Amino acid sequence: MESNSKTIVWFRRDLRIEDNPALAAAARSGSVLPVFIWCPKEEGQFYPGRVSRWWLKQSLIHLEQSLKSLGAELVLIKAQSTLSALTECVEAVGATKVVYNHLYDPVSLVRDHNIKQKLGELGLSVQSYNGDLLNEPWEVYDDDGKVFTTFDAYWEKSLRMQNEPVSHLPPWRLTQVAGSVKMCSFEELGLENESEKSSNALLGKGWAPGWSNADKALTEFVENNLLGYSKDRLRVGGNSTSLLSPYLHFGELSVRKVFHSVRMKQILWTKEGNSVGEKSASIYLRAIGLREYSRYICFNFPFTHERSLLNNLRFFPWNADQTHFKAWRQGRTGYPLVDAGMRELWATGWVHNKIRVIVSSFFVKFLLLPWQWGMKYFWDTLLDADLESDIIGWQYISGSLPDGHELERLDNPEFQGFNYDPEGEYVRHWLPELARMPAEWIHHPWDAPFNVLKAAGVELGINYPNPLIDVDVARDRLMQAIFIMREKEAAANASDAHGTVEVVFDNSENVGDSSANPKDGVVKGKVPCPSSSSYDQRVPSMQTACTHKKRPKPEEETKKPNDNKLSYKNESKISNIDGDLCSTAESSSMKKQMTVSRNSFSVPRAITISHDRKSFEEEASSQKEEETETEVNSCKTGKTEL
Ligand SMILES: Cc1cc2nc3c(=O)[nH]c(=O)nc-3n(C[C@H](O)[C@H](O)[C@H](O)COP(=O)(O)OP(=O)(O)OC[C@H]3O[C@@H](n4cnc5c(N)ncnc54)[C@H](O)[C@@H]3O)c2cc1C
Repeated sequence: MESNSKTIVWFRRDLRIEDNPALAAAARSGSVLPVFIWCPKEEGQFYPGRVSRWWLKQSLIHLEQSLKSLGAELVLIKAQSTLSALTECVEAVGATKVVYNHLYDPVSLVRDHNIKQKLGELGLSVQSYNGDLLNEPWEVYDDDGKVFTTFDAYWEKSLRMQNEPVSHLPPWRLTQVAGSVKMCSFEELGLENESEKSSNALLGKGWAPGWSNADKALTEFVENNLLGYSKDRLRVGGNSTSLLSPYLHFGELSVRKVFHSVRMKQILWTKEGNSVGEKSASIYLRAIGLREYSRYICFNFPFTHERSLLNNLRFFPWNADQTHFKAWRQGRTGYPLVDAGMRELWATGWVHNKIRVIVSSFFVKFLLLPWQWGMKYFWDTLLDADLESDIIGWQYISGSLPDGHELERLDNPEFQGFNYDPEGEYVRHWLPELARMPAEWIHHPWDAPFNVLKAAGVELGINYPNPLIDVDVARDRLMQAIFIMREKEAAANASDAHGTVEVVFDNSENVGDSSANPKDGVVKGKVPCPSSSSYDQRVPSMQTACTHKKRPKPEEETKKPNDNKLSYKNESKISNIDGDLCSTAESSSMKKQMTVSRNSFSVPRAITISHDRKSFEEEASSQKEEETETEVNSCKTGKTEL
């Protein structure tokens, strides 16, 4: 042990003591200076939203107490530049080394690369570690040494790779570096402003941030709820899943520890012949795999926060309608399941995965709103807002992944309501205005007889909106948009004018006019994603935070009781759609395969597996520079279920 070495431990989203490789390495080599730097300027458009910042603040308070009890003080710095904050720390205490754990989102990849380079030029030793993943994104390749572009193949390979067991014992004592550094208080960091405090206080009733709470939550889930995960996870209300995502996002829980705890249970259940337990563990590990895959995709395709992986949406005629965007945010689309989900999201910062899929698919397929706007709104409002998972989620639903939903697939929220909320309890909870609607009509109140609506106190168009758009019209509009997209793509291919940017046209002059044909949108230029504003987010009868109400189990294949078609309320306003376009009611892997093989997308230069591991930033920068066009692997075998 080099007992006189002075190391700065730069904490970011690894807010834990246990299995923290950077902290463990620093503690082994001498005295430490744990530092957290908050630099809003560098977060850019991905400045975290209110609930996410609340979580971060609580988690930092928790970490500070843990570090203090081990003998070191967490230095908090609010800075204009992370690099200058780090160099000031180095000078103040005479440190010779800086250590940190890797991040893989597009903002951090660039920032960390620059910082590592500059600190190296100053003669400092800089070491970075894997504190967030089972396997680094540059470790998993197919047999030809190429990057995987389908989840199942990726996960199968990952599972076959040897995963290190949890090896980094928490330090039992830390030696604080001598010297003083200018630091600020938690309040001065500015993670929470005065106006946010009262709403934030509610979050504390449902959630307990902090690494030791994360540990308890994991133990409780593995011991009590993992067994039933394969069935329970389909319930959209209540705590039917592990609720570990915010802990995992902020690195309060080591993913290696999660993996090994679940894997050990699985081995035990396998020995006992408990097939339900074995299946649950396997599905849960797959969910962890999706998180790994999100980092894998972002690292290997660092453009995916801006454009689709398949690059197929670059000619899609988005309908950038601010009124529809607002109605979606406020939960006023007229589709009860979508509206309930959006109101829950706004009120609690949390929604079940299935609801995330439903509301995001509605956003893209029914409203034709640009997926990047939805992704940004999720980023602004989710408690577990995580750029990589957010990106992969939106890419998955918008036909942008070889194994995700097809762009043509249009799921009807009415049917989904009967599948995932058969009694309508979830809707009733989040839409009090529909609280007295009988289950039979709750997911399609527009079909309910007048006397049923009257008895329930529902006046459509007055206290609950009519649907923004009819399902059949939405289907036709989507097909027409895809038709236009393909025509434009073919024309561009013919003229060799390959667009690479997904351009969003502002159709706001047509706001309120549902007849606005995507084709005829008034082109005003590229519209940036409108930042969400709390001022226009007035949700009627908002519930308090984080209810963990138990729901009845859904009957998986429940059909809706009657098959009435939606009666479209604004028929006259709808454009004429080319009647030759085929139905979009079902997803078709065959169709998708054809689509996929027609489209090409940018992938980094094929990488051959190397046993000499490149440094993280070297890999990141070399791959960014050397993107080449590669044909998508068209031998897709199936779809990934998120
Ligand atoms: C459009 C969309 C946006 C999303 N945005 C986010 C986001 O910002 N942050 C986020 O953490 N998750 C996001 N997800 C993924 C998923 O919805 C959440 O991870 C999950 O609901 C968290 O609940 P849980 O911890 O109880 O999950 P569990 O079902 O208990 O799963 C365990 C863990 O596996 C990981 N996981 C599960 N499903 C996914 C998935 N589909 N993609 C990536 N990781 C997954 C999470 O880390 C989760 O904590 C998004 C999904 C969609 C469809």
